[in-house]
Amino acid sequence: MSPILRIAVPAPLYSCFDYLPPPGADPAALKRGMRLLVPFGRAKRCGVLLEVAAETSLERDKLRPALAVLDSDPLLGDEDLELLLWAAAYYQHPPGEAIAAALPVRLRKGEAPASLTSPGWRLTAAGVAAVQGCTSAAGGRMPGAAANPARAPRQSQVLQTLAGHPEGLSRDRLHAACGPCLPVLRTLAKKGWIEPCEIVAGEEGRQGRKEPGPPLNPAQREAVAAVRARFGGFGAFLLDGVTGSGKTEVYLSLVEAALAAGRQVLILAPEIALTPQLMRRFQRRIGPAVALLHSGLAERERERAWLAAGRGQAAVAVGTRSAVFTPLPRLGLVLVDEEHDLSFKQQDGFRYSARDLAIVRARRRGCPVVLGSATPSLESLRNVEAGRYHRLELPERAGNARPPRLDLLDIRSAPLDGGLSPTLLRLMQDELAAGNQVLLFLNRRGYAPVVTCHHCGWLSECPRCDARMTLHLGTRLLWCHHCGHQRPMPGRCPDCGGLDLRPLGQGTERLEEVLTRRFPHLPIARIDRDSTRRKGALEKMLNGIHAGRYRILLGTQMLAKGHHFPDVTLAGILDVDQGLFSADYRAAERMAQLIEQVGGRAGRAEKAGRVLLQTRHPDHPLLQTLVRRGYGAFARESLAERRQAGLPPYSHQALLRAEAPSPKAPMAFLEEAAGAAGTLASGEVEIWGPVPAPMERRAGRVRAQLLLQSADRGRLQRLLQAWTPALGKLKSARRVRWSIDVDPQEML
Ligand code: ADP
Ligand code: ZN
Ligand code: ZN
Repeated sequence: MSPILRIAVPAPLYSCFDYLPPPGADPAALKRGMRLLVPFGRAKRCGVLLEVAAETSLERDKLRPALAVLDSDPLLGDEDLELLLWAAAYYQHPPGEAIAAALPVRLRKGEAPASLTSPGWRLTAAGVAAVQGCTSAAGGRMPGAAANPARAPRQSQVLQTLAGHPEGLSRDRLHAACGPCLPVLRTLAKKGWIEPCEIVAGEEGRQGRKEPGPPLNPAQREAVAAVRARFGGFGAFLLDGVTGSGKTEVYLSLVEAALAAGRQVLILAPEIALTPQLMRRFQRRIGPAVALLHSGLAERERERAWLAAGRGQAAVAVGTRSAVFTPLPRLGLVLVDEEHDLSFKQQDGFRYSARDLAIVRARRRGCPVVLGSATPSLESLRNVEAGRYHRLELPERAGNARPPRLDLLDIRSAPLDGGLSPTLLRLMQDELAAGNQVLLFLNRRGYAPVVTCHHCGWLSECPRCDARMTLHLGTRLLWCHHCGHQRPMPGRCPDCGGLDLRPLGQGTERLEEVLTRRFPHLPIARIDRDSTRRKGALEKMLNGIHAGRYRILLGTQMLAKGHHFPDVTLAGILDVDQGLFSADYRAAERMAQLIEQVGGRAGRAEKAGRVLLQTRHPDHPLLQTLVRRGYGAFARESLAERRQAGLPPYSHQALLRAEAPSPKAPMAFLEEAAGAAGTLASGEVEIWGPVPAPMERRAGRVRAQLLLQSADRGRLQRLLQAWTPALGKLKSARRVRWSIDVDPQEML
């Protein structure tokens, strides 16, 4: 009898589907992890084979045959599939969709895997001679005289780059290293100095030069030794060290050690930290094939890196959240940089935490995992406390750098100009006069968060959300940051026709305007989502900052994370009060992390740094703890409070969200869902709500939520496994859009 194919098909259902093999296919050649094209309803979908089974619980003659086998080798290994199925079950997501989300886009759509080779260039023997002639006899009439850097700088640059890679470089990498250089390549090819070649993904750069790192200091050596001692088995480590304490050097040493042991390495980093600078640092130091996986990568390139990693050819995969699912058959080490960062948690669809899955993956695999941060999350600190993670401390900044000084600046009744107090302005002046750089942090883009009519009090409210529309002066738009709704800035008040419309409060655009007026001769770099929309714009600005072209840096979150600004001696945080009085109990933790991160930008080199926090609540205990005793003390106090209140990380949560255009439907659904949970829960799971969401109306829909909480993760999980599949069958479910968020990070 023909075998049954159990296939994960992307569909919003919590099960897999049984099919018969495609006509003419050899069942023996079908392997777990291959893709098949299957009929699904009246459409075709691309699924992944999970199991070749003998039996089915359905009637055999009702089963349809699959249409085609799409792969000759499995795309995902057993381990990869097991991790995905585990994650799908844990986060209550349909398995077929979870697996599809892990595949590169084209493969998800059923297309054939990209070829692992790509076109590139390498030096010919004549080219090698030309480069050597040029460098050995400066000015002499050697064969390479035509590529003399002084006379043909572009040609010389390309030749030198290729000289560092005897096996050749792909067009993409050449482009990245030398900029657009097609005409130069043609000229060099005509001279017979370079020739086209095929580059195998993962092979590239293998013979490139490696730069040695600095000798490690004792704390770094100890950290590296502790992790290396666990190679070949599971161990979870929290690398806790202030910005500049040399965490990245620890990662690099560990990567070298893992590669030397013939292992592959997975490195996860937040979106924002994946700056080209960080990548170059890795490439310089690791030398061999670093397969880069991040959303900024061109689709084909990303797919090639993914495939190369899956065949064990690329040794290191660096990527953001979704890279946690990269197939790595020789995986021996997992690193998570800036582990506290919110971007590791996907906030829609498949709501997984890449940091938490990194731990799960390392445990299942039996290899060490290192979470690094200057501001560890309370979850990770709790895991240290419970003995699950081993803490490695880097107590001091590496080299000679001194830690920055943190001070509160009371701005009650201070005359502010664009949100800047006179004291901050005066200190800025001093630093700028001394030739230093100043960094200002304001977590609000646009010109002003709201516009009001001076006559009647009209406010620029979003018609679709319980929120105000932000004024963007660059585009003269009112723009809702929650739903994306836009309208032109009106010339007069829509209510009373008055002409005196006033922007209230500041965004980065307005701050830039004020600074331009105050410091007319100093170049300013504004870094936010608007100013960096164009591809390459962020890198260009960062380069300008490093070259000292900008003197004042101002920006949002984007500026606060991951970058190194050694010449910044003063950092100002314009408004720390936002985080103090939020409805979300995590807001304070996030704000403390942000303050530390901003501080981490300042005074990295020999120059001492200073951080000023403008506040109207200088006596707030949280701020006092942070300023006087540092993030560690703050975190300990916060943990004590969470324990007292029974909040995460001392309990575990799942949030059921519902939304609908009609105001009653979400609550009706959640009431019914709460009832169902009540009959399943045996007292160990608390059910809170339903309640309206903190922002009740968003994008024209009314939103509500129901919270489940338990001190016992296992009990919560068991309830969810029974509850979630039942939710879709509730009558009231048809009138809402709903989703479950396990271990929610934001209560919005
Ligand atoms: P982090 O990742 O913790 O922010 P980095 O590893 O980037 O720290 O180190 C900060 C700076 O100190 C870098 O310029 C790095 O080259 C330098 N550095 C790190 N470790 C050492 C060391 N042992 N000796 C000298 N310089 C070091
Ligand atoms: Zn008005
Ligand atoms: Zn809106």
